[in-house]
Formats: sequence, structure tokens, C-alpha cells
Amino acid sequence: MLRIHEIIACFEAIAPSRLQESYDNSGLIVGDVNREVHRALLCLDSTEAVVDEAIAKGCDIIVAHHPIVFGGLKRFTGGDYVQRAVMKAIKNDIAIYACHTNLDNVLRSGVNERIAKQLGFAVSSVLRPAAALLMKLAVYVPNDHVDAVRDALFAAGAGSIGNYDECAFSTPGLGTFRPNALANPTLGVSGVREMVQEQRVEVLVPIWLKAQVGRAMVAAHPYEEVAHDWIALDNVSSEYGAGVLCKLPKPMSQLDFLQHIKLEMGVDVVKFTRCDVREVNTVAICGGAGSFLIGDAMRAGADAFITSDVKYHEFFDAEEKLLLCDIGHYESEKYTIDLFSDILSSKFPKFATIFAETITNPIDYLT
Ligand SMILES: [Zn+2]
Repeated sequence: MLRIHEIIACFEAIAPSRLQESYDNSGLIVGDVNREVHRALLCLDSTEAVVDEAIAKGCDIIVAHHPIVFGGLKRFTGGDYVQRAVMKAIKNDIAIYACHTNLDNVLRSGVNERIAKQLGFAVSSVLRPAAALLMKLAVYVPNDHVDAVRDALFAAGAGSIGNYDECAFSTPGLGTFRPNALANPTLGVSGVREMVQEQRVEVLVPIWLKAQVGRAMVAAHPYEEVAHDWIALDNVSSEYGAGVLCKLPKPMSQLDFLQHIKLEMGVDVVKFTRCDVREVNTVAICGGAGSFLIGDAMRAGADAFITSDVKYHEFFDAEEKLLLCDIGHYESEKYTIDLFSDILSSKFPKFATIFAETITNPIDYLT
């Protein structure tokens, strides 16, 4: 039997909530983290119709891409679609969990990689890497405990850089300390200066693992007081940020590329700009509203950019140098529920997940 906090931890391991944008409200929106759940309904939007579907299908948790609640709710009178969905979920004891821009902002196993997979493209890098997500931890350790402390830091998630883990740097030095009368020192006696051969062990730590790594450091370190520094870094991340870049296995003509998108993404309409691009080699992708990345896509040398919600004037921003493709918001993200299913079933193979049949796309096309 699974509890909701286990489901949250499963998603957080891939898409830490710290990665969500400031306007977002990813996370548990309705429900108690300690409650047991038996069956999840996976969807893009947890509307009232989806809550009805969850009730009909015996689901006790809805996992949605878009949070049904973005801002604070002041009334619960059923006056709008948000209130109605939330009230119905609470009344029927159905939890709602959303994994939104935090899942957009990861290179691996994120929304954009899922779109790339649908198109048969391999993701190469983040389009706009995020900054200020890393800290450096420097801890001073007596020589005979360096291995134990380093192991503990690695086990807690420190020391990963791209495709490498267990990355650390150590420099030897001389540590000094003098215990006072209240101290309970591992080495030395009160009132006498102690001198110890130590090492300064340095590792990178994502900010969301700071507390966990800090606890592991203290637990593995032999001293009563652990001398250490947390240092904020300005490094950009190779694994986290907005949008992705893909290299195509072989170049495609504009028309072939557009038809490929239409077919593989299962869309009726692809809006695009006229442009000078003859061959598409490099493609930028951002599921959902991605026009804020048009400049990034051009600077990265992308020939095409697949996204949605592009406004009229933003199409001009492509300067006829980028094949800017708007495939629709819902359409660009609809495979996210397959991603939810993959994430949950890889960790909990016996947990029941159902794809919502309710089409929540509020936009229709007369073709
Ligand atoms: Zn979206």
C-alpha cells in the first residue's frame, strides 16, 4: 500500500519542487500526505470533469500536470471551475497532486524529453540552463575519517556533475582547536590546543539536498562541532533549466519536418513561420507556452523550435531565421501522462495508474 508522500518523493527524485517557476503551484494541492492511496488517475488538468472520472473509476489520487489552483482561493462556493473541482475532490476524499514546471525544467525524464522521444529525437542539452541551483560544501575532516565522510556525502546525493557522480576534491592541511570546559571532544582535553592533520573535502550539492547532505555530514563526522562552509555558487546547471535542444539523426527539409511533427504528435494543425531554413538539423523544444525561449533557440543555433501559445508579434521575433512551430498547448503536453505513468511504474510496478479519458483541452478546431 502506498502513501501519498511516497508518490510525491517518487516525482521529487526526478523533478524537485524547487525547480518550479515562481508563478507555479506544483505539489500536493488537496489531500493528506500520510493517506494511503490505491489508484491514480493521470491527466493534464484536474478539472471537475476529471474529478468525476476519478470518482467513477475508483481513483483516490489525481496526478495532474497543471495545478488546478495557482493563486489563493478566497471563497469555496462553487462560483468557478477551480472552486468546483477542489470542492468535489475534498468532498470525495480524492487527493490532487501536480507536477508542472519542475517537470518542465529537467533535461532527463522531463516533459520536453518526452516530446523529443515522441518525435524520435535525442535530447542533447538544456536550452536555457538554470543558475544558482548549486552550493559547494567544504568540510574539514581528520584524515582517518575522510573516506567515511565522503561516502556519506555521496550517499546523500552530493558530488554529481552531469554524467559523473562521486565527484569531490580534497586538500590536506593542519586543523587546530581548543575545547572549553563544557566540550566533549573526540580528541584532546579542555583548555589545550589540539593540532590535527585534516583534509578539506569539497563537494557540489544541489540546493534542495542541502539539509539532507548536512545531516549526513554531521552523522558521519567524528567531531562534536563540525567545521564546514556552505558556499553559494553562480554555476549554471547542465541538467536543469527551460527547454531542450536536440540534434536530428539526419537533416530534414522544412516540409518533411512539419509533416513529421503533425504525424508523430498527432495534431491536426501546426502553425509556423515562413523562414529561410532549408534543412532542419537542430531543434529546440519547450512543451506548453515557450515563446519566452525564442531568443535562446536562435542563439543556440536551432533551425526549428517546437512550442505553443506563440502570439502574433512573437512570430516576427523569429526574424525568418527560425522555423517556429506552434502545435498547441494541450497537444504539446499530452504525452506527459505517459511520462507520469513511466515514472510511477518504474518505482512502484504494482501501483494502479489510469490515463484520464476526459479531454480537458479547452480549445477546439473547426477543420
Ligand atoms: Zn502546460
